Amino acid sequence: MRTPEKLTEAIHQRGGKVTPQRLAIYRLLAGNQGHPTAEAIHEALREVMPMVSLTTVYKALNELAAAGEVKRFDVGGVSHFDPNTDPHAEAVCLLCGRIRDVEATVPDEDVRIDGFRVSSVATLFYGYCSDCAARRIET
Ligand SMILES: [Zn+2]
Repeated sequence: MRTPEKLTEAIHQRGGKVTPQRLAIYRLLAGNQGHPTAEAIHEALREVMPMVSLTTVYKALNELAAAGEVKRFDVGGVSHFDPNTDPHAEAVCLLCGRIRDVEATVPDEDVRIDGFRVSSVATLFYGYCSDCAARRIET
């Protein structure tokens, strides 16, 4: 994702508008390595903007994903958003649900699929983080 300032500039250049809510969403996402859900962004945003709706957050996040500014991927039917659009994979802990970035060779998002526009590529590794692996009972 570009910086909130650069992103705002680009949207203005296209004649678009950036509401204070959207700018706040960009700021919450910038550099965020926690792979937040829309609900998590909404919760954080409500602390400063109590009136903002979850729908507004979803719309803004999905637009960013469609524009390729953030990577969106689903885990267990829940969407997560990652401002890191450099090629990388995610490691998902099956016990605590924590998601972290991992360096890995991932498929090229410039791949051509007939009748389909690729906006991002997600490669997920499932397993157990070191905290959970230590606690896990081996069978
Ligand atoms: Zn990631």
